[in-house]
Amino acid sequence: MILIKSAEVYSPQFLGVKDVLIGGEQILAIEDQIDISTFKNLGVEVIQAKGKMLIPGLIDAHVHIAGAGGEGGPATRTPEMQLSQMISGGITTVIGCLGTDGMTRSLNSILMKVKSLRAEGVSAWMYTGSYQVPTPTILGDVGKDIAMIEEIIGIGEIALSDHRSSCPTTQELIRLVEHARVGGMLGGKAGIANIHMGDAKNPFQPIYDAVNQSELKLTQFFPTHCNRNDYIFEDAKEYGKHGYIDITASSYPFFPEYEIKPSRAIAEFLKAGVPLNHITMTSDGNGSLPDFDEKGNLIKLEMGQPKSIFTELVDTIKDEKLPLEKVLPVVTSNVADILKLKQKGRIKIGNDADLVLMDKNYTITEVFARGKKFMDKGNIVIKGTYEK
Ligand SMILES: [Zn+2]
Repeated sequence: MILIKSAEVYSPQFLGVKDVLIGGEQILAIEDQIDISTFKNLGVEVIQAKGKMLIPGLIDAHVHIAGAGGEGGPATRTPEMQLSQMISGGITTVIGCLGTDGMTRSLNSILMKVKSLRAEGVSAWMYTGSYQVPTPTILGDVGKDIAMIEEIIGIGEIALSDHRSSCPTTQELIRLVEHARVGGMLGGKAGIANIHMGDAKNPFQPIYDAVNQSELKLTQFFPTHCNRNDYIFEDAKEYGKHGYIDITASSYPFFPEYEIKPSRAIAEFLKAGVPLNHITMTSDGNGSLPDFDEKGNLIKLEMGQPKSIFTELVDTIKDEKLPLEKVLPVVTSNVADILKLKQKGRIKIGNDADLVLMDKNYTITEVFARGKKFMDKGNIVIKGTYEK
């Protein structure tokens, strides 16, 4: 058991200064004072957290955990994500996805990477499918993958409005997303469709068309990269009033000439009247970040980092002057709600003990995932199997 004493607890909402008791993988108690003198000999580790903030572990719902890319040829394939890339950014849950390369990379690798991350002690799930339509699957059917494979919670990232998209027809898109929805119903999952939004003009039109010509709701779609350029950003301010919008964090420092800084995007979406519970932020970690010229030639290539979601969360507080409890849901409870991850995203009795302690300067000092301490006094103490 671990007792975190006198922390300022943000559940995301501010609960006050509390003691939080962790036992096994769960949060057992949250009280003003927890007296452990009666069960001291059970070996409770006490962590003094006076003056520190305790927040839920971050959920990064779009990470290329088994590598991605390759858009500049074989040498540009990105590597697998390592455990410390999550822990350094206070991330305790990831959702893996395939991405552009549904041709030479496989969902089997992502599924085994999910299992490997779980074995290393953090939480992970995945989407079935890739950019392409028809999309690769494990069991030969999107719905079966979602209904029958515990680790699979939806489909994605399906590319729309992009030169790398298969440009599904409206009927193809409807059929695919409805199928994912039914798989989700049968499996008790979100069954949501994570959509890669590209650089085409009127990028949300394919989603609006699918919804207008079917019984699907906008909330069955989970479009990402909504800050990739100024026109998708403007369109997302309206779209976001009715559907979910996801901001990509890791690409900003590499493409500041096109992208809206994620921290500013959060502030501006809120100012435009997008409900807070419609906004999320993910990293696109380990995705390659290619830049193409007008002729479509690759001119630049970078790789995203998961910890960018923590950096941008802090910038939203420091630069945009939004309070922590107002913006924290964007990387915790909103993501858990949209993806139906019931044990995640909130500091609550019975939830998984995924917790992050930070000091007054928003520096992460401790990270706990499923009850185990992965970072202690700023040092990562549990690393991935092959990490030094
Ligand atoms: Zn993408």
